[in-house]
Amino acid sequence: MNDLERKGSVKDIIKREQELLDEGRPEKEILQLLEDEFEEKRIEKVGEENNSNEPNPNCPECKSKNVAWIFYGYPGDMEWYLEAIAKKEIAPGGCTVTDHDPKWRCNDCYHGWRKRDDD
Ligand SMILES: [Zn+2]
Repeated sequence: MNDLERKGSVKDIIKREQELLDEGRPEKEILQLLEDEFEEKRIEKVGEENNSNEPNPNCPECKSKNVAWIFYGYPGDMEWYLEAIAKKEIAPGGCTVTDHDPKWRCNDCYHGWRKRDDD
């Protein structure tokens, strides 16, 4: 359990573990699910911090202000994720992260870029 305790509060994990036990899942599957879910929660938190710390820049191609921050990884909160995509606040970036991924996506001309100046 030591690995799991680092990823979320022990109380959250125990509560979730009880829910999964009630559903009648095998213990091995429960541990894997807990590990996945609490890791996702951590990724989501990091994403939200990145999003709020930086105001949306203008598109360098068409100068539009209608740009979306590209979300990488798997969202822990699917409802928030789909809503943010619908509002064009974020764009889905997929689960694979490399060094040259764009950070921003223009909603008008679909140009993708990474603004490094303010980093
Ligand atoms: Zn543009």
